[in-house]
Amino acid sequence: MATYQAPLRDMKFVLHELLDAEREFAALPGFEEVTRDLIDPVLEEAAKLCENVVFPLNRTGDQEGCTFEDGTVRTPSGFRDAYRTFVEGGWNGLSCNPEFGGQGLPGTLSVFVEEMLQSANVAFALYPGLTHGACITIDKHADEALRRRYLPKLVEGTWSGVMCLTESHCGTDLGLLRTRAEPAGEGRYRVTGTKIFITGGEQDLSENIVHLVLARLPDAPAGVKGISMFLVPKFIAGEDGSLGERNAVSCGSIEHKMGIRGASTCVMNYDGAIGYLIGEPHRGLQAMFSMMNYERIMVGQQGLSLGEVAYQNAADYARERLQGRSLKGPVAPDLPADPIIVHPDVRRMLLATRAYNEGARALIAWTSLQVDRSTRHPDPSVREAAADVVGLMIPVIKAFFTDYGFESCHQCQQVFGGHGYIAEWGMEQLVRDARIAQIYEGANGIHALDLAGRKLAMNGGRAIRAYIGSVSAFIAERREVPGLDEFLDPLAAALARLTEATQWLNEAARRDPDEIGAASYDYLRLFALVAFGRMWAESAQIALAKQEGDNSGFYRAKLATARFFVRRLLPNTASLLATLRAGADTVMALEAEAF
Ligand SMILES: Cc1cc2nc3c(=O)[nH]c(=O)nc-3n(C[C@H](O)[C@H](O)[C@H](O)COP(=O)(O)OP(=O)(O)OC[C@H]3O[C@@H](n4cnc5c(N)ncnc54)[C@H](O)[C@@H]3O)c2cc1C
Repeated sequence: MATYQAPLRDMKFVLHELLDAEREFAALPGFEEVTRDLIDPVLEEAAKLCENVVFPLNRTGDQEGCTFEDGTVRTPSGFRDAYRTFVEGGWNGLSCNPEFGGQGLPGTLSVFVEEMLQSANVAFALYPGLTHGACITIDKHADEALRRRYLPKLVEGTWSGVMCLTESHCGTDLGLLRTRAEPAGEGRYRVTGTKIFITGGEQDLSENIVHLVLARLPDAPAGVKGISMFLVPKFIAGEDGSLGERNAVSCGSIEHKMGIRGASTCVMNYDGAIGYLIGEPHRGLQAMFSMMNYERIMVGQQGLSLGEVAYQNAADYARERLQGRSLKGPVAPDLPADPIIVHPDVRRMLLATRAYNEGARALIAWTSLQVDRSTRHPDPSVREAAADVVGLMIPVIKAFFTDYGFESCHQCQQVFGGHGYIAEWGMEQLVRDARIAQIYEGANGIHALDLAGRKLAMNGGRAIRAYIGSVSAFIAERREVPGLDEFLDPLAAALARLTEATQWLNEAARRDPDEIGAASYDYLRLFALVAFGRMWAESAQIALAKQEGDNSGFYRAKLATARFFVRRLLPNTASLLATLRAGADTVMALEAEAF
């Protein structure tokens, strides 16, 4: 059976040594009190909850799955109790607005709690994860009355929130959606339509479910410019936020699927259900981006969370499983064979996973800090620069983390040999659970297009210019640090490739728009490797300074992993540059009928 131990040492390294979070928080109004004395106990308590309460339900939740009977969805045994413990512990509102009962802690801290929760049980974590996104969206876009009626219970977690975009004929292309909303007087609307694949659309964990539904008003223009957002509750809240009458919202069925079986995936019917407009008419997609941007980071993190569990289990197994002898001669001559961790090929798989995991943990925390800066920093130019870099990182985190996360789970399954294929060890569940993250919240190819086709061009290329400039300055500022060149040189080479790829893409796109589509996936991967390389170089700098007298071996391991990353993974930027420069002709030449 799989095991999980929250990687608290590495989390504290990222927060305190890499980001110097306490100093950063001191500069952000409202976070001045968030010191190490507060941060560490939050992490430690979250670790206990995740390891002892949530993780034990991971396997049973997968085996039992959700069930559907007469419109009612039951989550797997134990989920309700664990959810109650989660809510009673105040975990649901950790970084939510204190005005509505949240604890108002920085997202840079709660992102670590989310990592642990998703490692422990990604299916379970989806329910509060969606609620959190709904809280952010309602808080930002709904009017005062709706916020007062719905937010306190959502923040508390006694009510939950879900995101309702997809219809059977419309997934990526939301301009096709048909669900409609008719004005019904007194600021209310009647929402009619069917949504599919709605995570947590119906469940038995919370008293009420608040659906954020995209629909069209009668005068809506066609396409994405005619979409509005509505708050459609399962039970309509009274003025005082109490539970009122049942709304015409029902679950038609649930899907049977490859993974995340403890999370309900629902067909939802809205039969003239009462809804309330959130934000401006026809601008619902813009409002939904508040939710989607949060969920995209959360879904990206699933790659890290599952990769971490996969790594921990595969590393333990590799130290114990005896097969073959080291190529250099027996390492454990008293045993019938050496443990498989002596084999370079097994180490290759483990180290790649470890290097991606630790790099991803650093990058997602750094990005979360930019999110906190973009909303709280007193200087508008700092807020703008932070928002720019967050815009670039969201597609990178969503797509690259989930690709490597799936790859990591299957590489770690490979470390188990045939035993990895057998349910008992838990590795096959990780592979199944990791797969969806590459698809939902927008398929990864779409995020690559978002980066290469949209984000690069925004504001005349301001964000990408600033990011490339910042990595270049990061390298230049550290050239005098003894021993750091072995990390800075490969990063500089990778950055030069990213610069070349960006210029090439700009020019090629003017010749032929398909060049963007053909190059976008490789471009995103190249960008991601540079972003990881930047985090690894800084981690290595800290480890170099602290390795002497380090009895725990932590900094030695950090350096070894950093070396593996810059020498064996970062050079992939060269092949990615060559591939994207091969151009669109190579993918567009074959006629559709010939496939
Ligand atoms: C388990 C599960 C849970 C989900 N939860 C939710 C939820 O809570 N709420 C919700 O609203 N939805 C949810 N979804 C829906 C999910 O977000 C969509 O499935 C996803 O966005 C992809 O849409 P699609 O399935 O219609 O694929 P399509 O849009 O049909 O895409 C198919 C393929 O074509 C590619 N493609 C499409 N258009 C383009 C283009 N313009 N350029 C290049 N490539 C393109 C895509 O990248 C993809 O590879 C969930 C789905 C699943 C399976």
